[in-house]
Amino acid sequence: MSADDPLEAFLDRFVVADPSLLYLDGNSLGRLPKATVDRLREVVEVEWGDGLVRSWEAWVEAPVRVGDLVGSVIGAAPGQVLCCDSTTVNLYKLVHAALDAFGPRPLVVSPDDFPTDRYVVEGVAARRGLPVRPEATDEPSIVVRSLVDYRTGEIAEVPPSSPHVVIWDLSHAAGAVPVHLDDWGVQLAAGCTYKHLLGGPGAPAYLYVATSLQERLRSPIQGWFGQRDQFGMGAAYVPTEGVERFHAGTPPVLGLAAVEEGVRLVAEAGVDRIFAKAQVLTSRLVALADERLAPLGFSVASPRDPARRGAHVSLRHPDALAISRALVDQERAVPDFRAPDLLRIGLSPLSTSLADVEEAVVRIERLVARGGHVGVDVSGRVR
Ligand SMILES: *Cc1c(COP(=O)(O)O)cnc(C)c1O
Repeated sequence: MSADDPLEAFLDRFVVADPSLLYLDGNSLGRLPKATVDRLREVVEVEWGDGLVRSWEAWVEAPVRVGDLVGSVIGAAPGQVLCCDSTTVNLYKLVHAALDAFGPRPLVVSPDDFPTDRYVVEGVAARRGLPVRPEATDEPSIVVRSLVDYRTGEIAEVPPSSPHVVIWDLSHAAGAVPVHLDDWGVQLAAGCTYKHLLGGPGAPAYLYVATSLQERLRSPIQGWFGQRDQFGMGAAYVPTEGVERFHAGTPPVLGLAAVEEGVRLVAEAGVDRIFAKAQVLTSRLVALADERLAPLGFSVASPRDPARRGAHVSLRHPDALAISRALVDQERAVPDFRAPDLLRIGLSPLSTSLADVEEAVVRIERLVARGGHVGVDVSGRVR
């Protein structure tokens, strides 16, 4: 089947420092693209080293330019995506902005959703004296929801219409599964770039504000980069036009350059082809898990329909934490663990082959069959 992989050539576009290391966590931190190494060297040596402050003329456009590029892989026409801050800060800005624009209303976040999403919603709600609900009712609300579940990989249904303002978190979706924000009529979204978008550690996240809403929404952080005439240094804050009003302070130029290279790779491969490969990889893992890992106490915690699954598969096992640590130490495999009992296997399609899937099952089976995880220290910090 590898020979049929139309994306096989992309495997060679990444730095693989140690070929014996089996990397199964590309949905937590994507691998380093070779192009990013060259680009960062250029930005550091030429743009910063030689250009110095003069380079701001080009750098200042980067959050919008890179935002538009991110938009191209999540179905957003130009002018609606800004690459900035972290997902957490972007969610905070969007929740406040939505409440200001649409009036006080309940907030909705699932207790199973990603921690930062819950913390942001709960913090904003507490400050404003608003209720937080675990699921939406008929009452118009502000909903924060992940498109791809960080634990199970399940892809959520995007309803064609809704009485709510929904802020979609695309962190585990972007660059892995088809996202059509404009076509779906999505109003607001945010997500990170260091997972399937390959932006690297600490790379800036992004936010999406549909054109129709931009005039109405204001960022709760009034910063000089969101100011209409930034270098007029005026007395009063007047938000600039468009999504750029969600800027706060000076953008992280090195991180933006890395995001640009990562997302270029995704755009070149094409999200539809990436998702097609994700389905091949995850289906193979599910089949092998049923056949060879189920007898060792594993069960598949991800959806069985590949069309309803992102690019990772979670395997439930009572000793998942010990197994994940032992895989790193004894089998040179790097999976992820998600409490309380999930071994999460990320199969980021551009940097993972079908042979990697087979090898993952070989190593997990070998470890657990010999009891290599028994007695492994599970105290201390969970990564
Ligand atoms: C990874 C991830 C984030 C990351 O948040 P940051 O503030 O960018 O660190 C947020 N939400 C979800 C659902 C994630 O998977």
